[in-house]
Amino acid sequence: MKRVLQKLKPSTASIQALILALVVTGAASQVAGQVGTGQTVIQKATEQFENSPLKTTVLGQGLFMFSGDGGDVTAIVDSGSTLLIDSGVDTRVTELSDAIFKATMRPVTRLVNTHWHFDHTGGNVFFGSAGVTIIAQETVKKRLSSVQNVPFVGLRDGRYPPEALPTIIYSSIMTLHQGPQQLLLVNYGPAHTDGDTVVYVSPANVAVVGDIFSNHFYPIIDLASGGSIDGMIHSVDEILARTDVQTKIVPGHGPVATRADLEEYRDMLMQVRQRIMDLIAAGKTIEEAVAAAPTKQFDAKWGSGYVPPNVFTKMVFSSLTYGGSTGR
Ligand SMILES: [Zn+2]
Repeated sequence: MKRVLQKLKPSTASIQALILALVVTGAASQVAGQVGTGQTVIQKATEQFENSPLKTTVLGQGLFMFSGDGGDVTAIVDSGSTLLIDSGVDTRVTELSDAIFKATMRPVTRLVNTHWHFDHTGGNVFFGSAGVTIIAQETVKKRLSSVQNVPFVGLRDGRYPPEALPTIIYSSIMTLHQGPQQLLLVNYGPAHTDGDTVVYVSPANVAVVGDIFSNHFYPIIDLASGGSIDGMIHSVDEILARTDVQTKIVPGHGPVATRADLEEYRDMLMQVRQRIMDLIAAGKTIEEAVAAAPTKQFDAKWGSGYVPPNVFTKMVFSSLTYGGSTGR
């Protein structure tokens, strides 16, 4: 792990430390000594982002997905330009940019960020410096442009240089056009963070949903950035209402999914939420809840990512006990 962190630029390492802190703060602020668990999440994620091969997937005519270098990246092509959704981790942006040009043969002119996390905005400096217009929900700009203060661990970080910031922002809905495709950008309120964007691409019938859904891993719920389990479920319900069996769903991480995959994910979230609610109602502590293994039946399918079952349980527990249940 040391090796991986040493390779990173200080800004990335500190942002990762911030996200680690967010996870730890949100999940376990009432329990001392949980840092090791949180570190494991980010270490595992970082190693994966640094070492996975970059894969290009064709989603349709003029639509591509790039995966491996952080969050999934989507490219939509028109006659003279490419619009990107998310920008991966900063350490692999040159490789990503080369792969995008090889697939699209057009320069990137616009970039939409689905949320502020480093594995979705790491390429913003690279693309922003090249004059690419960056677009995001308004909270993303706030979080990227200001120092993020995480009092629990006394960490202050999170400021991106001006060229990496969104210059076009929206609050709840915005429409863009790219060649024959219409892009509907929607924020359903806090879910994974407080600045999530879902992008519906039509007529291609593609939905790019960011980290509201990982296929198929337990998600991070970034409580310190305003995320909550109830917000996650709400956003997934909204996405299910707007998609059909033909829709290609680009998750925040993992391969392209179907609506059925998203339904299964929603059922998992609902059942885990209910079991943890029952444990809370029975007066269990967060550690007792983890010991009760409320995710057990789902772990074989969803527990092999960088969010292990105990960390997911803690995030859901914290969300339901420290403001997440009504905070959407
Ligand atoms: Zn994220």
